[in-house]
Amino acid sequence: MKKLELHWQILIGMLLGLVFGFGMTYLSWGKDFVTDWVSPLGIIFIKLLKLIAIPLILASLIKGISDLKDISKFRNIGLRTMAIYIGTTTVAIVLGLVLVNVLQPGNGISEETIAKLTSTYASDSGVVSKLEEATRQKESGPLQFLEDMVPDNAFAALGNNRLMLQVIFFTIFMGISMLLIGEDRAKPLKSFFDALNDVVLKMVDLIMLIAPIAVFALLANVVVSSSDPEILLALLKYAGVVVFGLLMMIVFYCILISVYAKKNPFWFLKQLSPAQLLAFSTSSSAATLPVTMERVEEHIGVDKEVSSFVLPVGATINMDGTSLYQGVAAVFIAQALSFDLPLGAQLTIVLTALLASIGTAAVPGAGMVMLVIVLESVGFPADKYAVGLALIFAVDRPLDMFRTVINITGDATVSTVVAKSVGKLGEPHVRNWDDRLDEVR
Ligand code: ASP
Repeated sequence: MKKLELHWQILIGMLLGLVFGFGMTYLSWGKDFVTDWVSPLGIIFIKLLKLIAIPLILASLIKGISDLKDISKFRNIGLRTMAIYIGTTTVAIVLGLVLVNVLQPGNGISEETIAKLTSTYASDSGVVSKLEEATRQKESGPLQFLEDMVPDNAFAALGNNRLMLQVIFFTIFMGISMLLIGEDRAKPLKSFFDALNDVVLKMVDLIMLIAPIAVFALLANVVVSSSDPEILLALLKYAGVVVFGLLMMIVFYCILISVYAKKNPFWFLKQLSPAQLLAFSTSSSAATLPVTMERVEEHIGVDKEVSSFVLPVGATINMDGTSLYQGVAAVFIAQALSFDLPLGAQLTIVLTALLASIGTAAVPGAGMVMLVIVLESVGFPADKYAVGLALIFAVDRPLDMFRTVINITGDATVSTVVAKSVGKLGEPHVRNWDDRLDEVR
């Protein structure tokens, strides 16, 4: 019998997880059962993916750079990547702002709903911790992000998943130095990292074997921890605007893929789909990164010289879905609380949301922290931040799931487009987890 394709297996796992989660909400012990006995499976899966993220970035970026024949190529890839990232993020924010201004989801929301949301969430620990995190972020100077990018201890950087940009900095530095000492002298190191790269990609294959079960657990947990359906319904119009905008971004990516990369966009989405489904289930671009890299390199055919740089950098700084959401959410909050946002203020949102998406960590819920900074930039009163966040908190998790899908799809699209533009988009070369199983048995 032909084995079901991975994306179908994952999708079935997700659907069963949703149904199981809903079922469990009807039982008095259901939520505790899911939290204690089901959710750990999902957490273990996310941990496994995070476990290999840094070794994968290290090995694949070193391999990517040391395969380059000259450094100027790298500069070329770097500049194009940054320019396209800024371009796609700007499109996302502008799209979000146009939709929220035209559809005005915040204007229909009643005083009663606002009062209910405020009393339920304004002092919720989730909202409070996001505000605290935002205050910490705000205290930093304008060049803090550059300062933060440079590690003072390579091992400390490699030991912390949140310091991905430091790892990238260190690795590029090392890769370029390897090019400079010449192929012969760098050979032992290069062979080591080449082998490490293959091993880590194999680990991705092995981890993906449990993906269908893990997404079952993750989604069941999301369902039992979500808010009361009545509140979700009140925010349906706002959530609808965000999701509609995110879907339009997919259309935009499809156009880029077919016009610039000359590939069939449906084929592209199908190849990427396991990574997208994981992004949806985990709400974390960082946790999804190993799978995104594996799909883009082996299943789409982007050369490692491009993907090994573009994808890890993208996972940390390119968040189209998040920035679209930030634009919509900021204006929605202003509309609901009757805070005037003239055109000038909305242009400020474009700029701050662009910077905020660079500063947003690739983990669940981080987009909401940076939203506070966007609100601040347009002069939103500080004593109303908690009320503002309370308005959108109930639907944040589901929207986070959708925007993370867009975040990783944007990264994959840009890496494909950049690869095409520098002649590094080849044929897929799929490797299965059990290619050599017979030999090692
Ligand atoms: N969860 C998102 C990501 O990891 C970030 C966010 O929008 O909260 O890509």
